[in-house]
Amino acid sequence: MDIWSKEKRSEVMSKIRSKDTRPEKLLRSALFSLGYRYRLHDKNLPGKPDIIFRKQKIAIFVHGCFWHFHNDCPEGRVPNTNSKFWKEKLEKNIERDKRNIEHLQSEGWKTIVIWECEVEKQLKITTEKIVKILNQQNSSVKR
Ligand SMILES: [Zn+2]
Repeated sequence: MDIWSKEKRSEVMSKIRSKDTRPEKLLRSALFSLGYRYRLHDKNLPGKPDIIFRKQKIAIFVHGCFWHFHNDCPEGRVPNTNSKFWKEKLEKNIERDKRNIEHLQSEGWKTIVIWECEVEKQLKITTEKIVKILNQQNSSVKR
């Protein structure tokens, strides 16, 4: 059953969750240029975190504001059309995110959620925030 109009469908398709989004790439190259090395999209970890620092046990999710329903963000809103459908769908995503993060934390991972709009607007501040956490973990890893 086609529940969307043509316009709506193309709007939705353009927002489909994808790997290697622009904000993800921006953040990755910022970290890389500072000398940090990481793994990407580890399928063996709950929620397939976008950026993974194994030694420090840090998992970073770069969340799309629409799909992960960013609070107080213009992108994090329920569309006016089919709002019931969308509300349920987005709520499910939030629950899944929560479960994945709890799962990771229960296995000793530190999780960081970065919103796409943060990266777009404040790449430097966002990168510094991650670096700070990495350094903290580094010093606790070293004996
Ligand atoms: Zn946002």
